[in-house]
Amino acid sequence: MIRVAIAGARGKMGIEAVHTVLNREGMELVAALDYKDLGPTLGNLEMFPDYYDTPIYTDFAQLVAETKPDVLLDLTSPHSVYQHTKEALEHNVRPVIGTTGFTDEQLQELTELARSKKIGCIIAPNFAIGAILMMKFAKEAAKYLPDVEIIEMHHDRKLDAPSGTGIKTAQMIAEVRQSKIQGHPDEKETHEGARGADFEGMKIHSVRLPGLVAHQQVLFGGDGQLLTIRHDSLNRESFMSGVAFCINTVITMDKLVYGLENII
Ligand code: NAP
Repeated sequence: MIRVAIAGARGKMGIEAVHTVLNREGMELVAALDYKDLGPTLGNLEMFPDYYDTPIYTDFAQLVAETKPDVLLDLTSPHSVYQHTKEALEHNVRPVIGTTGFTDEQLQELTELARSKKIGCIIAPNFAIGAILMMKFAKEAAKYLPDVEIIEMHHDRKLDAPSGTGIKTAQMIAEVRQSKIQGHPDEKETHEGARGADFEGMKIHSVRLPGLVAHQQVLFGGDGQLLTIRHDSLNRESFMSGVAFCINTVITMDKLVYGLENII
């Protein structure tokens, strides 16, 4: 049995993940980590049935001492995720991180920490298999069509922009694409931000609207042609097979991996 603790259990992703961990064979939900004192168990929260007896902790060291998790699944916020990941590694608990918003320096530090501890850590900006395929296909297409723009679209509660998936897609494309400034060399924005964020000359546009979940289009322009690769997560269930895969996989690993595409 893999013993799992979840940080962010009462969030939109967290609620789905609680049910996933409770219902999958081979894993057990041993604790929830919160920053608020919400009562002793998940059953105290309105979104869960009364009989959910998973204990809630606000102190990670106490959580580890009393429930001995193998894995910490983090679905919280860019403000807390770095601290949670670091603390988990320091306590020899393997992090599976769905939260986005790490800086490059933080990722480097956590990679070193996982290496020195020789324990697995998966940071997955996107748990949906279709989104991973979108990124892989986009990397392939960019070898032939180097003019690229990315449009990522999310619900309006999302805190970070561009999305982790948008940035990861641009990074993967940049591995095969010669750095190139796109558009007219003399183009000027009459309204700031009109051309989107710049990643080595590629533009990333972030749309935030109620009703959206997580969607992305990667557009490739060529002479007289346009290729669009598109992925839509229509609900949060789309992420759960990836979550379960990461929990099962992270305990077999001895280093940090950033991006599910590196392990599927
Ligand atoms: P959400 O509904 O806002 O849930 C986040 C939850 O975490 C909230 O209940 C929040 O509480 C709680 N939280 C905040 N700080 C915390 C802390 N220090 N300790 C414990 N809990 C804390 O957001 P969501 O849609 O579930 O998304 C959660 C994260 O997953 C976001 O970063 C999002 O970008 C990411 N995400 C990843 C994927 C993927 O495939 N990797 C897919 C979807 C979303 P309060 O409401 O009190 O602040």
